[in-house]
Amino acid sequence: MPDNCIRRKGTFTLRIDVHSHVWLREHLSSAFIRDMGRAYGGGLPPERLVHVPPEAHLRAMEAVERCVVFGLRSRRLGLAVPNSFVAEYAAAHSDRVVGFACVDPNEEDAPGQLDEAVAMGLRGLKLAPIYQYFHPHAPEAGRIYRRAAAHGLPVLWHQGTTFTETGPLEVANPLLLERVALEFPELTQIIAHLGHPWHAETIVLIRKHPRLFADISALHYRPWQFYNMLVLAQEYGVVDRLLLGSDFPFTTPADTIAALVHVNDLIEGTALPRVRPDTVAGIIERNAAAALADILGR
Ligand SMILES: [Zn+2]
Repeated sequence: MPDNCIRRKGTFTLRIDVHSHVWLREHLSSAFIRDMGRAYGGGLPPERLVHVPPEAHLRAMEAVERCVVFGLRSRRLGLAVPNSFVAEYAAAHSDRVVGFACVDPNEEDAPGQLDEAVAMGLRGLKLAPIYQYFHPHAPEAGRIYRRAAAHGLPVLWHQGTTFTETGPLEVANPLLLERVALEFPELTQIIAHLGHPWHAETIVLIRKHPRLFADISALHYRPWQFYNMLVLAQEYGVVDRLLLGSDFPFTTPADTIAALVHVNDLIEGTALPRVRPDTVAGIIERNAAAALADILGR
C-alpha cells in the first residue's frame, strides 16, 4: 500500500487519475494536430491541447493525490513524446506523479526502449493499436507484452475508437485483448475510456479476467453513454474494476469527478436505474489504488 494513503472507514483511499498526458508541440506531427482540430470543430485545435507542458499538467492534477502520466509514440502518425521527457517530470514530482512509458511495437528496438524507460524510473506501459497501427495479436506486439510482464509493468491500452482519419478501427476492439489476458494472466491491463464505443465488450471482458480494469476517462461529455456504461457495469457487478481517469488535456480530473458526482442529474424525475453512491465513491477514491497497489509503493 502506498505510504501517504488515507484510511477512511477501514479502507485505503487515494484519489488517482490513472490516465493523463504531457507533450510539447514539437512532439506532435502536423497531420495529428490537423486531425485533432477536425475532431474539435474544425480549424486548429486549442493551444491547451497541443502544448501540454508539465507545469500545466501539475496544476490540473491538484484535484487528485496521485496521477499516472504518459506521452504517445507512433512512427506512423509522427508522434514522438520522448520517454525521457515523461521520466524527468515524474522524477521531479515522485510524491505525486507516476510516469508510464510508451513504445511503438512496430519499431525494431521497442523492447530495448522499454528496458531503457524502466531504467529511467517509468512504471507502466501505454499501448494504442489504433494510433500505432498494430494488431494486438501480432508477434511484434507479443514481445512487448512479454517484456512488460517480466518488468511487472501494468499496461494501459487505448483500445477503442479515436478521431484520427486513418487509424484502423479493425485493431481497436477491446475483445482483441482477451488473448493477451489469457496468455499473460498476471499482467495488469487497463482499457482506457471503457473501450468506447464498445463498453459492453469491455465490461464482459473485465468480468472474465481478474487483472483487467477499465478507466472512465474522456467519456463524461457524452452523458447518455457515460450513464449507461456505469449502469451496465453495476448490472454485471464489475464497478470495483472501474478506475478514475481524465485523459488530460482533453478533460480534467476536477471535471471528471464533478461529472461522476452528478451523473444521475440526467435521469432526475424518471424511473430509470441510478448509479449508486458506492459506485461513484469507489471510482473516485478506492479502485485505482487497489489496481495499482504493486507499483505505487515503488
Ligand atoms: Zn489518452
